Amino acid sequence: MTRRYAEVIGDPIAHSKSPIIHEFWLAALGMEADYRTCRVTPDTLAAYFAERIADPAWSGCNITIPHKIAALNHVADPGGVRTSIGAANTVARNEKGDIFATNTDPGGFYAPIAGLELEGAPVVVIGAGGAARAIMFALSRLGVGPVTVLNRNVLKGAALLAAFGLKGNALPLGSPIPPAALLVNASALGMKGHPPLDIDLSALPDDAVVYDIVYAPLETALLAAARARALDTVDGLEMLIGQAALAFEILFGVEPPRDRDDELRARLK
Ligand code: NAP
Repeated sequence: MTRRYAEVIGDPIAHSKSPIIHEFWLAALGMEADYRTCRVTPDTLAAYFAERIADPAWSGCNITIPHKIAALNHVADPGGVRTSIGAANTVARNEKGDIFATNTDPGGFYAPIAGLELEGAPVVVIGAGGAARAIMFALSRLGVGPVTVLNRNVLKGAALLAAFGLKGNALPLGSPIPPAALLVNASALGMKGHPPLDIDLSALPDDAVVYDIVYAPLETALLAAARARALDTVDGLEMLIGQAALAFEILFGVEPPRDRDDELRARLK
């Protein structure tokens, strides 16, 4: 029988760290399966799904830019991802062999902050793109207090608050940030090739947590500024590994060995 495989699709895709993560876990578990990279352009997305769905060796795929929304047009959506989060990052087969879409980004975002008491707490989110959408969904489920969204395009921030029924304000990037229990950078600022996120953290209380989902570079100016203030921090690899772990279980049917995260993180830096 042909060896089972899953893959990550997107355009561009060469930079994706997903193959490093999934191949690490497959090898650690001694599994006879592969995790590949596949460049899929928007005009080949429909053909991609038609071909792969007919291939019994294909377990499914992770989805990155620009297909997270469009993928929902090609698969069933029994969990209601289209109306809840509005984007998918994983497509897989269920026990009956039916193809379905889901999104492990909210769970991956939540895992590192699961110990925080955020119900009713004020939160700041910077960014209003695809990643912010998954994060706002998670925040809405956690019952957080007012959410202040800072984004270059203010309307996108306001639309996200409305989409997830969150109370709060949408402000332009550069506005002073209010006190908050959690500040999340979900924008591309600070990422390689983008300007750094220049933000004054002085309004944050001493027990605030600063979470930067950017993982390239891992040590961002935002995290350095938070550490300089002795605030607790969460870096982008935590969410990246967290969402991948949930996807691995869906794609390969077993939990990944999270006790080897230190070794995995060293490979991803
Ligand atoms: P996206 O949908 O393209 O959104 C990009 C966001 O960054 C938007 O809010 C955009 O503002 C803002 N932005 C981009 N360039 C900017 C600039 N020059 N000045 C001001 N704002 C700018 O991308 P995404 O998928 O949400 O990803 C955002 C970041 O999160 C990326 O660095 C990505 O690598 C990271 N990420 C990490 C994980 C993880 O697991 N750790 C998962 C997903 C994404 P406008 O809305 O005004 O354009």
